[in-house]
Amino acid sequence: MIATKPQPKTHQHQKNYIICPLCRTGKLIFEDADADDVPIRLILPGSKRKAKYHVKCDVCKKQVGFSFRS
Ligand SMILES: [Zn+2]
Repeated sequence: MIATKPQPKTHQHQKNYIICPLCRTGKLIFEDADADDVPIRLILPGSKRKAKYHVKCDVCKKQVGFSFRS
């Protein structure tokens, strides 16, 4: 029986994906939880808000806008 060594508590590099709000399956962008950058705000199609940036979901092929929170 092999005893597993306890993992040293090093800082894990976290990867969080921003999931497509339309199909909730597609991974739109991955964000680094460690970064100090401002979080992004997703803007759904049909929203009154104009998004500056757009990303296309690989799963549902819809375009989701995003902008940065200030
Ligand atoms: Zn999608």
